Amino acid sequence: MSLLEIKNLHISIGDKAIVKGFNLTIKPGEVHAIMGPNGTGKSTLAKAIAGHPSYTITGGDVILDGKSILAMQPDERARSGLFLAFQYPSEIPGVSIANFLRAAVQARMAEGEELDASGYYKKLYSKMDLLKIDRKFTSRAVNDGFSGGEKKRCEILQMAMLEPHFALMDETDSGLDIDALRIVADGVNTLRSGPLGILLITHYQRLLDYIVPDFVHVMYDGRIVKSGNKSLALELEAKGYDWVKQEFAAANA
Ligand code: ADP
Ligand code: MG
Repeated sequence: MSLLEIKNLHISIGDKAIVKGFNLTIKPGEVHAIMGPNGTGKSTLAKAIAGHPSYTITGGDVILDGKSILAMQPDERARSGLFLAFQYPSEIPGVSIANFLRAAVQARMAEGEELDASGYYKKLYSKMDLLKIDRKFTSRAVNDGFSGGEKKRCEILQMAMLEPHFALMDETDSGLDIDALRIVADGVNTLRSGPLGILLITHYQRLLDYIVPDFVHVMYDGRIVKSGNKSLALELEAKGYDWVKQEFAAANA
């Protein structure tokens, strides 16, 4: 069983405190949505957990299956079962998706273990069939000239191939039209059937019409200020974030 525990996490960028005491536990198969106004530290949280070097963890802990990941390099975190889908995925001209994914899968294998090519393609094609992705897709260079929807599809395919225990998805819905949103949601819902735990960061409620979360949390000023279920997301959509800010200001006055 896999458990991700984020305990009283504090994160700084330079000497500026951004995340200020974030607590959350994700159990296998659970989908937790984090919503909140821009600039509140959502991406900072996701990147710091993945091990981005620009973000300093100044307090608290992130524990995966009973073991702190904070001393681990990003690749070790990935091998332990964490996956981060970026808000803005990088373009890698000249490297095909097939080769990129092959390198990524190989990198996650134990030292001395060799990825067998026919096994790899068998797995790749079965994942593509599962996600209803055209075979031609993987001969294109990673994200090079891709539409918003294609980039997200590429992230979902990576996620399917790497089979993480926990996925952090940062605004996977940003910049997507409704068709692309459906593609992403179908992909996530397909992968969701197993033990995968998901932290879904989103600014808008719309994605949650398609990926129904088990829990919704509102993040403000670097921490969770409110938790609920899907109806909290609907309330936020109807009322905006101002009331969250006001409640926070009143509580901290
Ligand atoms: P969100 O994803 O909730 O919109 P972010 O985590 O991106 O918020 O940003 C939180 C705060 O950290 C903002 O004030 C932002 O300006 C600041 N910030 C984010 N990344 C950097 C960076 N690389 N350097 C300096 N400040 C940053
Ligand atoms: Mg963000």
